[in-house]
Amino acid sequence: YLFGKKRATDIAHMVWKHVVQKGDTVIDATCGNGFDTLAMLNLVADDSHNGCVYALDIQKDALDNTSLLLEESLNPNEKQLVKLFNICHSKMENAVPRNASVRLVAFNLGYLPGGDKEIITRSKTTLLALEAAKRILMPGGLISIVVYVGHPGGREELEVVESFAGRLCVENWICCKLQMLNRPCAPIPIFLFKR
Ligand code: SAM
Repeated sequence: YLFGKKRATDIAHMVWKHVVQKGDTVIDATCGNGFDTLAMLNLVADDSHNGCVYALDIQKDALDNTSLLLEESLNPNEKQLVKLFNICHSKMENAVPRNASVRLVAFNLGYLPGGDKEIITRSKTTLLALEAAKRILMPGGLISIVVYVGHPGGREELEVVESFAGRLCVENWICCKLQMLNRPCAPIPIFLFKR
């Protein structure tokens, strides 16, 4: 099943399904055009309209695109379960209530497809955001990262993500990456499971 998936984001969505439960609180740290936000909402929303997705992006255009996609795809009750924030993901703790149990923090790094390619995630703030995600993630939760290496700065960002993952305590974290060995520039899904 895994190897039938062509895109790194599809592989990430498949892994999320095995971790996220109805009623959960999750964070889309780079909501972009909203496809990941919508996939998360479909995992967390239950019949009583519990569950919550905090969707963050540094670009207003991205939040507008996400909002439009949600408008087209969800009923008003479901849409209310998504909270949009125009902030840097390193500030995610300002968006999420202090006592929230966060099951998933997902990063889809790089630039907004169809948008300004100069506005990309940067290693320094990505690292700060990973540290914030580590602080707020519940046991049994997942930090999911899709890293793009085809644009300038992408390889450096991959190194920063790998180095962060490599320092996580082996007793509490299972960290893995899925690299396409015959597609050297393919996006790389990385999963950090907290025991
Ligand atoms: N998840 C999105 C989707 O499903 O359409 C795609 C995300 S796109 C590859 C990367 C996004 O990260 C862009 O929309 C960009 O504006 C955003 N971004 C860049 N730097 C950021 C930061 N420091 N904090 C939050 N978002 C950021």
